[in-house]
Parts: sequence; C-alpha cells; structure tokens
Amino acid sequence: MLAKRVDSLEASPTLAMGKKAKDMIADGIDVVNLSQGEPDFNTPDNIGRAARIAIKDHLTDSYTATNGLVELKNAVVAAAKRDYNVSLLTDQVVITTGAKLALYALMQILVDPGDLVITSAPFWVSYSEQVKLAGGSFKAIVSSDPQFKLTIDDLSKLEEKPKVVILNTPNNPSGAVYSKNELESIISWTKTNDVYLILDEIYGKLVYGDTVFHSGLSLESLVNSKMIIINGVSKAYAMTGWRIGWAIADVSMTHAMTKILGHLTSNPTVVAQYAAIEALNGQQKSVETMRKSFESRLNFLYRDLSEIDNISIPFKPSGSFYIFFKIDSKFMKKNNFKNTNEISMALLSEEKLAIPSGEGFGMPGYLRLSYAKSEAELIEAVKRLKHFFS
Ligand code: PLP
Repeated sequence: MLAKRVDSLEASPTLAMGKKAKDMIADGIDVVNLSQGEPDFNTPDNIGRAARIAIKDHLTDSYTATNGLVELKNAVVAAAKRDYNVSLLTDQVVITTGAKLALYALMQILVDPGDLVITSAPFWVSYSEQVKLAGGSFKAIVSSDPQFKLTIDDLSKLEEKPKVVILNTPNNPSGAVYSKNELESIISWTKTNDVYLILDEIYGKLVYGDTVFHSGLSLESLVNSKMIIINGVSKAYAMTGWRIGWAIADVSMTHAMTKILGHLTSNPTVVAQYAAIEALNGQQKSVETMRKSFESRLNFLYRDLSEIDNISIPFKPSGSFYIFFKIDSKFMKKNNFKNTNEISMALLSEEKLAIPSGEGFGMPGYLRLSYAKSEAELIEAVKRLKHFFS
C-alpha cells in the first residue's frame, strides 16, 4: 500500500504528453511535439567546454556545499549586479537541482498543513502539486484581468488570508509579463498583509517587442523580506537537462531550505554547477540570439494561428515561449468534445500533434503550445491545427 499522497497527486501533464509523443516518435510516427517547455537550441559551446574542463581537472569528484558552490552563488550575485544593479549576499542564494526543486524546498519550509497558497490561473503545473505535497491548500484565482494577471482587486476579495502568493512573470503558459506598477502593487499588498511572495522569474530573459522585464530584485530588498525570487539556467541558456536553478531570499529562508536540501540531494550535480558558472559569467550573446529567434517564431505563429477557425488567442504573449489559445465552445459541442483534454488527445491521435490542454494549467477550454521548436516544426503544426479545427 503506497502513501495517500501518491493518489492525491496529479502526474505532470506536460511531462506525460511529452513522453507519449516521444514514444510515438520512437515507434516511427511523425509526431510534431510542442508539449514541453524546452528550447530546441544546443547548450552554448562555452558552457559545455567549462563542464568538460571541470571533469578533466577532477573538480567534480566530491560533494559540494548543500546549497551549491560558492563560485556559483557568487555568479548569481554578480548577475544580479550586472542585470539589475542590486547587491546580494552570497548567503541569500541557494542553488538547487533545477528551479523545480527550489520551489519544492520553498513549499516545504513555508507551508504547514492547511495553509493557503494563492496564484492566478493559468499557472505552471507543478505549483499545485508541490503545495499538496507540503499539505497546504492551493487556490488559483481566475482574474478578470484581460491577460489573466493577478490584481490587488483579486487579492483583496479573498475570504481567507493566504500564507503565500506565487506570481510567475513572464508566465507559463499565458506569456503575460507584469509591468513595474503591477508588480509594485502586489509586493506592497503582500508586505501590508504579511504574506510570503514567491516570484518565479525563470523566463525573465525571454521578453519580446517593447516589453521590459521587471525583476522583484530591483523593486524590493530581500533582507528581512518575505519575498523570494526563483530563477535558473534551464530556459535562457538552453540547459533544461543540466538541472540547475536557485532561490534568492532572506537568509532565514535560504538556511531553512538548505536544511531540507541536505536530506534530499546533498548538493546539485557538480559538473552542472560548473556549467552554470560559465553560463552566468561567460558571454551572454547566445541568450540574445535565442531570444530573437523565439521572438520571430512568436510573431509568425501569432499571425498564422490568428487566422485559424475555432481558436482564438486572448492576447499576444509578451514573454516566455508559449501560446495559450482558446477553443471555441460551439466547435467543441458540435464535435462532441466534453473538454479540452479530449481535444488534446484527438490532436495527438488524428493529427500527430502533441499540445497539452489547459486543464493541467488550471484553465480548461484552452490548449498550450510551446514555440521553443524549429520553424519547420511550427509551420507543420500550423498546418495540422488548421486541418483539425476547420
Ligand atoms: N517555473 C516555471 C514557470 C517553469 O515553466 C519551469 C519549467 O518548465 C520551472 C519553474 C522549472 O524549471 P527547471 O527546469 O529549472 O526545474
């Protein structure tokens, strides 16, 4: 008999869809897989080279400090100075096995059974399950904001005071980016109400058009603060497989996280930590090259998807690398689809196109497409979507 928490947990729908698509591809089926948020670029060469040198020099043979190599924490501190002119202490940084583990450890140190954690729908699939794993209760507000952003109005209508608010900017899956004013007002509300605020900024380097990304780092000191910043190298540096992320917070929280991590991982894999040092300290032009490429894919996809019948995109995304689009309810009824999960499954079986449904992101009625894929795959995906929806 397995523990009850296993039954209460939803498997990650994006990983499940990604696995199904990869299995079909292995069976020789021509699947276009737009399910996972994974850049199609290679990790830049300078980063791989740094990892190989670390192995050759036997720097990778022993445990490191649980919360990461001091050189990597210093690289995070230096990046905060370079990008936002903010000074941090090394001790305010905890390096983890991907941003996912930073979030998991955070939920473990912040959430007691019964505590309420709030975010806005649509939200990244793991927030709800990580809160459940900590015994907390999770609520996703469907905001009336046209870009689904969490507003002060939403927060002030809450009947129960949350312990934690999670905000993800740029957002996965909607692509919305919070303005400076919007962020400042949420930060101010959480301060006034003595609520923890987790800012997940993993897509912070991926914004488009004239959008400016504002990090919580430049708006609020983290010393004695209840705000926590989450980031990592996965998305901006095409390093999803290396599994390096981090949290930046007041030392009371980074020390508590380190205590938990000491019993989970001992330390993030050392070779990946050396790679991440080079990602942060080395040349940054590949980040801009990839960002530009994502932007041109967004522009043509947004145009082409807007012309397909029976789907609509609520607003043009300004960050991350997803398009979250709505399915016309008349189309669903006419074709006997009970929900968008069924549409997602039908797209996979009939069109060999892997796109997860909004259900896993807390917003049924939508599908999420990742455009971190080659232009050829995206053009083919548009063709298949056009065929299916018309
Ligand atoms: N936060 C968000 C919003 C994400 O989309 C993801 C990955 O998809 C993560 C965190 C986790 O990233 P990592 O690969 O660093 O664990």
